[in-house]
Amino acid sequence: MKFVAQIAALSLLGASAAAAQPVGEAPRWSLAIHGGAGVIERTSLTPEQDAAYRAALQKALDVGSAVLAEGGEALDAVQAAIQVMEDEPLFNAGRGAVFTAEGRNELDAAVMNGRDLTAGAVAGLTTTRHPIAAARAVMERSPHVMLIGPGADAFAASQNLEQVEPAWFFTQRRWDQLIRALTEQGLPIPSRPADAPSSDAPGAQASGAPPLDERKFGTVGAVALDAQGRLAAGTSTGGMTAKRWGRVGDVPIIGAGTYASNADGCAVSATGSGEYFIRSTVARDICRRTAEGASVQAAADAEIAEVGAIGGDGGVIVMGRDGAVAFALNTSGMYRAEAGSMRADRVAIYADEDR
Ligand code: ASP
Repeated sequence: MKFVAQIAALSLLGASAAAAQPVGEAPRWSLAIHGGAGVIERTSLTPEQDAAYRAALQKALDVGSAVLAEGGEALDAVQAAIQVMEDEPLFNAGRGAVFTAEGRNELDAAVMNGRDLTAGAVAGLTTTRHPIAAARAVMERSPHVMLIGPGADAFAASQNLEQVEPAWFFTQRRWDQLIRALTEQGLPIPSRPADAPSSDAPGAQASGAPPLDERKFGTVGAVALDAQGRLAAGTSTGGMTAKRWGRVGDVPIIGAGTYASNADGCAVSATGSGEYFIRSTVARDICRRTAEGASVQAAADAEIAEVGAIGGDGGVIVMGRDGAVAFALNTSGMYRAEAGSMRADRVAIYADEDR
């Protein structure tokens, strides 16, 4: 694929330029983010919608890059970039998350520190504004790896993480998407949440947002390498529209949607049909491949081919220990962006997009 080849070539250029970098120059770092993969075609976005997504990605990239450029930690950059996207209604994470069949927003997130393989995850949050911050608190301030449901929100509150009314996460277009999905499935339509903003209230609509269908995954994620050579990965999502029975996808499952290991030279965040990504243990498997000597691009491509072979759709972002970035997807698009100390920012949407 021309696009993939170009990314790989760019990443290699970045790596070799950095290797030649004289001592005393700006430290080397690298960041990649995604805002979900899926059926995203040029014909399905107006120029305004296309521009709105690119601007949202650039904003998250800038915030994460600033952390790394100042010598900050990979983990802090990952969290900072994801929090921007959790607050952005265009993406299916935090505000703007999809609804369950019961008409609730239940949020999942995970983070992993590649330096020491510590990890934290949360599932089914309903009141914590930034699920990625809760995942990080689980990792750093609890003896556990994964917390779920009301207990996870209570833990986040006990760690002074901002709590919000569930209506904070409400957006009209996700609500409309739920109604369509439930109608198609012949399922009962829940009443509109009592505290939801009216459909014309500011914030209820995501400005510049296209109509939604279930072939777009709006999960957000980030992978980073900091100037000290530490790798980190994080992912945050509302899951799948009209999910039922406490369904949890790949995002908070360490090794499925999220994984990082300095020893393996790899950090991964995934987006796609979570049930398939769980069964393929996508993120861990990509790191096994890099540990065995594959390039990040080869590892990502091989894994996406495998998950595709069992019926999964989606994509991954992968960061190598040298700062090389790989994107791989088997859908027509993935909202994605990368930045690094030795290269220009890049923001892309469509699978075949050139720089
Ligand atoms: N992977 C997510 C899930 O299955 C969905 C997404 O990527 O948007 O929950």
